[in-house]
Amino acid sequence: MTFRRIRILLLLGVFAAALSLNWLEQWMVRAWQGPLDVQVVPINFDGSAEAAAAIAALDARDFEEVNAFLEREIAGYGVRVSPAASFAVKPALHTLPPAPPQGGNVLQVMLWSLKLRWWVYRQSGGGLPQLGTIRLFLLYHTPREEGVALPHSLGLQKGLIGVVHLFSDPRQARQNRIVVAHELLHTLGASDKYAPDGLPLYPQGYAEPELPQGPRRVAEIMAGRFVAANGEAVMPDSLERCVIGAQTAHEINLDAAFRNRFGG
Ligand SMILES: [Zn+2]
Repeated sequence: MTFRRIRILLLLGVFAAALSLNWLEQWMVRAWQGPLDVQVVPINFDGSAEAAAAIAALDARDFEEVNAFLEREIAGYGVRVSPAASFAVKPALHTLPPAPPQGGNVLQVMLWSLKLRWWVYRQSGGGLPQLGTIRLFLLYHTPREEGVALPHSLGLQKGLIGVVHLFSDPRQARQNRIVVAHELLHTLGASDKYAPDGLPLYPQGYAEPELPQGPRRVAEIMAGRFVAANGEAVMPDSLERCVIGAQTAHEINLDAAFRNRFGG
């Protein structure tokens, strides 16, 4: 066999291994057989004292509300796992993940996603990959002016990675958990359910699409907002007013998990 052929075979082997690892990981986390293993890694985005304080105060118990939300919502689809997710807070990192390309083409986005996965692999100390572990990088910001928008958070299904931009103000803590839950569900395969203008898509982005049109108080988690009486999209104040809608439940495999367990 020529060297060139061997090299191609090796590359194909690596590619096949990566594909089957992705598949295996997704199968593990979407089976809903046990708690999701979630590692939270805080990062001070702007080097501010406020972000440092938010990170110092961070505790696994802060994510109990996310777990309670997941437990309550998956139970609504007949899946009982308690805890639904176990969170561990890892030491803060002093480096930022590679930023996504601005308006990049498909190839640039693919390259960036590979770079991000390589960055995550290196940050987690290299070695054998921990299959099925979801890693959420929480990037804390302290804007100096009012009304500053955060960079877009994202959750990647391949590699089970979330890059979550949050405000360090303690008054934002409960809404931060909505963002954490949203990105966590992206890693399990849930898609966004809002239009480019931020308004929830109907019906999949509504918490109670069967109710007559009108103002709401509860949001579908992958829309992240409900339509208030003034017609604007409003973020609820906590996960207590968020639900996992039917389409999201299907995307994260809850209906299949239920069928596997009880037949039908
Ligand atoms: Zn999203």
